[in-house]
Amino acid sequence: MRAMVLHQPGEPLRLEELPVPEPGPGQVLLRVVACGVCRTDLHVVDGELPRPKLPLVPGHQIVGVAEDGRRLGVPWLGWTCGTCRDCVSGRENLCARARFTGYDLDGGYAEHAVADERFSFPIPEGYPDLQAAPLLCAGLIGYRSLRMAGDAERIGLYGFGAAAHIVAQVARHEGRRLFGFVRPGDEAARRFALELGCEWAGPSDAPGPEELDAAIVFAPAGELVPAALRALARGGVVVCAGIHMSDIPSFPYELLWHERVVRSVANLTRRDGEEFLALAPRVPVRTEVEVFPLEQANEALGRLRRGEVRGAAVLRI
Ligand SMILES: [Zn+2]
Ligand SMILES: [Zn+2]
Repeated sequence: MRAMVLHQPGEPLRLEELPVPEPGPGQVLLRVVACGVCRTDLHVVDGELPRPKLPLVPGHQIVGVAEDGRRLGVPWLGWTCGTCRDCVSGRENLCARARFTGYDLDGGYAEHAVADERFSFPIPEGYPDLQAAPLLCAGLIGYRSLRMAGDAERIGLYGFGAAAHIVAQVARHEGRRLFGFVRPGDEAARRFALELGCEWAGPSDAPGPEELDAAIVFAPAGELVPAALRALARGGVVVCAGIHMSDIPSFPYELLWHERVVRSVANLTRRDGEEFLALAPRVPVRTEVEVFPLEQANEALGRLRRGEVRGAAVLRI
């Protein structure tokens, strides 16, 4: 099968011919039809995450067809131990022995993939393959981040990539008010934020027109954390949704005072997946995708790195 393979972080992926993987016990062999390109893939390829399996087939937003014809989605959470304190208390996303798709396990930048069936989700009917792929990470992580924002009415979104474009639709469906914070001068992102239902969009280095009850930071830029705290009302929360972020600059305690909270969101649980994939068709979430053939995975990652992708990048396989 053809696959795009990472041999060394910092190097481009290489198009290679690999044997079709053999499913082990509990695993299912999938013919991959689409795979989303996530910012996490970029962190892996650029060497910002510490311990990828090498060589590695990246990709953790896999839409594949099993041998019995079922269409399955494979997310980032590929396996958990099932027995640790986190696993048995509904926090399998925090399992210290968890294995992640496209990081510890080969992912979906390939014509075939194997996945643990217990960690795969049926793709909701009515979603074309390419539009379904971004639901599996951008959608799931966005959904978990929105849950961490509690019942916040006024939500600020920082960074308008794939996750924000999905979470905006869910948040509007729930009747929340959205404010978009984009890189100063990024007029395309500002317009995109408004199209997605933000009632206001403007530069991320200053507070918006109203205080926020929650801010969700998708952009991997640590300086956004104190900026978001400055934009919060008392008791508000800043949710950091990414797996990697540049250092957060020091800030006066006053910004955190009055029970403001800064927290991260890590990975997903299978329950998040089931809830979100049931909710997505009811919203209905529509994903905007830029499509690339498998062999142009490096081009897709490059466009993502430069912030040029509108919506989500997806490989058609
Ligand atoms: Zn565990
Ligand atoms: Zn992801």
